[in-house]
Amino acid sequence: MPELPEVETVRRGLAKFLPKSKIKDIQVLHPRVNRNGEERLESAVGAKIESINRRGKYLWFSLDRGNAIVGHLGMSGQMLIKSQNEPISPHVRAIIRFAGTSKEFRFIDQRTFGWLTIDRLISTPTGEIPELCRHIAQDPFDSKFNLDQSIQSLSQRKTEIKRALLNQEIISGIGNIYADEALWYSRIHPERKIESISQNELRTLIRNATKVMKNSLKRGGTSFDDLYIDVNGQSGYYEVSLKAYGREGEPCKRCGTGIRRITFANRSSHFCPQCQRAPRTKSKVGKNRVGNRGGKRSSR
Ligand SMILES: [Zn+2]
Repeated sequence: MPELPEVETVRRGLAKFLPKSKIKDIQVLHPRVNRNGEERLESAVGAKIESINRRGKYLWFSLDRGNAIVGHLGMSGQMLIKSQNEPISPHVRAIIRFAGTSKEFRFIDQRTFGWLTIDRLISTPTGEIPELCRHIAQDPFDSKFNLDQSIQSLSQRKTEIKRALLNQEIISGIGNIYADEALWYSRIHPERKIESISQNELRTLIRNATKVMKNSLKRGGTSFDDLYIDVNGQSGYYEVSLKAYGREGEPCKRCGTGIRRITFANRSSHFCPQCQRAPRTKSKVGKNRVGNRGGKRSSR
């Protein structure tokens, strides 16, 4: 599933081609494309694209009409720039053509969790964004991203750290892959309760998440399931650098212990049971002996 580095790679690719383009024609080939449905995608014909923007995993083309074409790649969406004479694959959901060029934008989605829609732009203290992104927090690539504020809003949650990292209203852009990677780098077990994690650890965790995602962006993202590609159809190659995600049974690159996978919050979580110690279970019957394991920090 595309996360921040993958969506940013797509945004950069689109930003090279789309700004200043005038929309000549829009062809919708699947009903799910007009997700919110109030205004149809086709109503953008005649508009000019001003800029290509992103918050978290949401992408949008700002139009010269005060609104935007907003898109989300979902699980398997792809946004490609193709020549009009290239064959149209069966999973193409929408095509946008422009005046004065034979290149076109194609939205492709095998599993149809992705979408494109028209939305109005609203002014917020953190910039102009589509209304449907109102609840999406800033992502760590945002020039106005506030680390202290993000630590505060993380530390107020009474939940497990992995669940909070995936919550797009606290910090956006982090999905399953980079959450697992950031937790591995930070030696934090995914099921640890936030209240047991210090502010310094949270700071390190967000910094690690940002670092991992920036390194991934440099390599064009992670094409773990072969569905994610950039606008020219190229795969990313960060997956060779993954330390935890997708490495079940393989040795931890820090200590050699086998990476474990658990299902948690309806997702797979990958971690090293040695480097990322499980949270202590509080005095549950029959768990007392296990409960003391690793209790004191000084124990080795
Ligand atoms: Zn380890």
